[in-house]
Amino acid sequence: MKQYGMIIDLEKCIGCHACAVACKAEWEVPADQGRNWVKRLGPSNTPHGLASTYYPGLCNHCDKPACVEICPADIVERTFKDQVTGRQKTLEVAATLKDPFDGTVQIDKDRCLGCGACADACPYEARYVNPEQGEDGKADKCTFCVERLAAGLEPACVQTCLAEARIFGDLNDPESAVARYVKKGAIKMESDAVKIGPNVRYFGNKRDIHLLTETSTPMVMPEASLRRVMLARLARPVIRKGKKKMTFFDL
Ligand code: SF4
Repeated sequence: MKQYGMIIDLEKCIGCHACAVACKAEWEVPADQGRNWVKRLGPSNTPHGLASTYYPGLCNHCDKPACVEICPADIVERTFKDQVTGRQKTLEVAATLKDPFDGTVQIDKDRCLGCGACADACPYEARYVNPEQGEDGKADKCTFCVERLAAGLEPACVQTCLAEARIFGDLNDPESAVARYVKKGAIKMESDAVKIGPNVRYFGNKRDIHLLTETSTPMVMPEASLRRVMLARLARPVIRKGKKKMTFFDL
């Protein structure tokens, strides 16, 4: 089984924001929101010397995604298909779900209630509810550009990065470039309290990695607003279209 992931090579990133701009253009992300971002960190003293770096981030397509767990939308049966082998698997899922064949975390926009509970629950602040859609605003985040992958292309941010600081691939394939970075020591942004298996990893020198982990690793699991979850659950009978079977690859 695949687990798509991304490596961010801090030594290569030049902070040009081309990845963030490409993502906004590809997916019509509102100007004040982001499916991905580049933050400037430092200059600051670290135990390894003065450091300044960039923090390119995105959804981590986690192994145990907090967003999937919290999603209050109705559960439906969904059939997933392995694009390579054609194998199929049926799972019960809410509106945000983890694909069992490629490990990506996706949003079923047709069934998303727009309650924002997933955005609240994500410790990486990787989701937003689209404000430009008014009361019908849906949750949105990085999808690893699955539609582009299906067409044989790389994610837009990877293709656009001239510095080749974003590297995409299957972490479970030992021959992939991303797996080689993991062997070289690329790290997960995890803390004792936040261990949900992020599949975006960061590679760099000790100074930059220290600065990144000290300033940007989430230290607590955020609590999703109970009010939002309750309101979404109460609204279900009004919103839902009825329990039905869906085929993910037909959407
Ligand atoms: Fe969900 Fe946040 Fe993990 Fe992405 S980073 S899978 S939105 S918990």
